[in-house]
Amino acid sequence: MTTPYPVCPHCNQPLRAFELPDNTGWQGEFQLACFNDDCPYFVRGWQHMLDNYAVKASYRFRFDPSTGESSPLAVWSPDALKDRIIDAAVDDTARTDGSKRAENGESS
Ligand SMILES: [Zn+2]
Repeated sequence: MTTPYPVCPHCNQPLRAFELPDNTGWQGEFQLACFNDDCPYFVRGWQHMLDNYAVKASYRFRFDPSTGESSPLAVWSPDALKDRIIDAAVDDTARTDGSKRAENGESS
């Protein structure tokens, strides 16, 4: 029994799990994010970042299953982080496939 992924509140597409880069300091082994390139949150982000920060970047809707909190996930291209998308179930990953990462993911 796997837990269905939450859907993005901006585009109603299922969120995808992705592995975190090593240097983020986030807790948990993976997070969920909306990788829909048509998501209005992501689409709007480009203009927002350009207008406010003069950078070519955007952000995707991110949901952290370990805390239940959502926050923007900054991306620098439409393909950013897509190579980190994993097929993980919210509840099962740590037990079935996370053994090699479990040792450094438990700081509390
Ligand atoms: Zn979305």
